[in-house]
Amino acid sequence: MPETREYDVIIVGAGPAGLTAALYAGRSMLRAIVLERGIPGGELLNTEIVEDYPGFEHIKGWELAQKFDNHAKKFGAEFAQETVVTLEKQDDGYFIATCDSGVTFRAPTAIITSGGTPIKLGVPGELEYAGKGVSYCAICDGHFFRDQVIAVIGGGDAAVEEADFLTRYASKVILVHRRDELRASKILQKRLKENPKAEIIWNKVVEQIDADAQGLVNNIVLRDVITHQTSNLEAQGVFIFVGFRPNTGIISGHVDHDEMGYLKTDMNMETSIRGLFAAGDVRAQLTRQVTTAAGDATTAAIAVEKYLTSMRSGAQVPEIIGTGGYSA
Ligand code: NAP
Repeated sequence: MPETREYDVIIVGAGPAGLTAALYAGRSMLRAIVLERGIPGGELLNTEIVEDYPGFEHIKGWELAQKFDNHAKKFGAEFAQETVVTLEKQDDGYFIATCDSGVTFRAPTAIITSGGTPIKLGVPGELEYAGKGVSYCAICDGHFFRDQVIAVIGGGDAAVEEADFLTRYASKVILVHRRDELRASKILQKRLKENPKAEIIWNKVVEQIDADAQGLVNNIVLRDVITHQTSNLEAQGVFIFVGFRPNTGIISGHVDHDEMGYLKTDMNMETSIRGLFAAGDVRAQLTRQVTTAAGDATTAAIAVEKYLTSMRSGAQVPEIIGTGGYSA
């Protein structure tokens, strides 16, 4: 018989948002369980250096992740390495998180901080040569391409920042962007443009990724979006950073989201499902930073505490929240 474990709040994901939610839930003396399929840290583990988290002028992503993790545990957060398959609200108002191990977790509230998954280009060779030259994680795979040529696809913060990072390994990094203007923040653009090992190819998209007889990437076919002409770019590594898709697939039932699938919340981080809160990269918002993830999660955890107090005191939990919180 699969076991069901009871908590005050289920936190799905252990990136900066999940770990911050756990910290605040712990400080509020809530019984919180953090469910994470990998190791705690989320996108911080894919970030070489963090320079924009206040108080840390320059810190390695994994080091900041470790600090978040230790801090959350200090306040009593409980963690389980589990892959959540579904998060469902039952008729009794409780959420059930069902994991692929068969274990289920039950709580009156949940905070989803499950982040996103890299978007794929969807071109021939991409999935076939994943791990054989195609990568979505510079910090994980960059060192495999020492003194080789790396192509980075995308023009946002992730692509530009990781292209710069990859120059420490590669003989040359070529950023391929589909427009003639980068989306990335100006400071990241400046750093890349000043890097002598980096080059930018404009107005081109990837049409196909080719490999040698051993199945290792050796060429990318590019198409010019203006002239429609194709050309070859010899490269041994292709790092793809063309955005993220929010990980919301575990939620059963309809939940309001924007056109990209990011969860809409009110100012208390509550979604359209009562008792279900969202924080971090999975939430619809202007930007996705470690600071905003931590901020969202702080609000979500405090709102959870107020929601539970309200519920347990018998007071009706307001239908429309976001106008100044709950009365206890
Ligand atoms: P993003 O900002 O959505 O950028 C995606 C990039 O990929 C865009 O330049 C887009 O081109 C391009 N693209 C999309 N589909 C493509 C396709 N099929 N073929 C070729 N190019 C394609 O995503 P992101 O860079 O992953 O960043 C996600 C969020 O995390 C952002 O809010 C970002 O600010 C944040 N972030 C911040 C940092 C930092 O501050 N250090 C680092 C990483 C991420 P177009 O520009 O033409 O649309």
